[in-house]
Amino acid sequence: MRVALLGPPGSGKGTQSEVLRDRLGVPHISSGDLLRDAVARGTELGRAAKGFMDRGELVPDDLVLGMIRERLQAGDCNEGWLLDGFPRTLAQAEALDRLLENEGRGGLQHVVSLRVPLEDVVVRLGGRRTCGGCGRLYHVKFQPPKADGTCDACGAALVTRRDDEEATIRARLGVYERQTAPLLAYYSKRGLLREVDGTAAPSNVSGEILTALKDRR
Ligand code: AMP
Repeated sequence: MRVALLGPPGSGKGTQSEVLRDRLGVPHISSGDLLRDAVARGTELGRAAKGFMDRGELVPDDLVLGMIRERLQAGDCNEGWLLDGFPRTLAQAEALDRLLENEGRGGLQHVVSLRVPLEDVVVRLGGRRTCGGCGRLYHVKFQPPKADGTCDACGAALVTRRDDEEATIRARLGVYERQTAPLLAYYSKRGLLREVDGTAAPSNVSGEILTALKDRR
């Protein structure tokens, strides 16, 4: 199955992607994770992307597109994939359509939009903590670690990502409204959009997404 997950930062895309990856048996491709990995490894892409990410701006389309093109060519994508955080602009969405058409392995089948009011998103992102070791996500209120400030999985210290600081959160939300929200109409017109209430408990949100995907398969 070929699915893209849309939603403002903090709408639960990362959490839902992990559940969906296991349930659908397709790789989870997060553009944010791929970019953070490139930054951590100090690659050319990482060095070019870092400033944009730290300011909460979008990384230029050509850089992101090259990265996604390469990832989709990997063997584990033969049976489908789950895109998280990509596409994020109309230009990216159009480029993705062209890329999939050229590859001939089938186009996008579903676009799931997680709807969460922007005020809720500020609270969610402000409390988010990330493991500096394995990247696992926590929330000081909704999903705290067993021991304060320490990852349950690998024991490394939890950190606040630079792009989860308040000023950056507001910048990212503005970018979402201006550049990503127009994608909802783009996919709705093509009959691909499945809207899901992202404010419910995570397990209910997953259930709703799986139902939406089943209904239209
Ligand atoms: P995320 O973890 O998806 O919120 O992404 C973190 C940051 O990575 C974003 O604030 C952007 O700077 C960058 N980023 C992730 N995905 C994209 C994309 N599709 N296009 C441009 N920039 C992106």
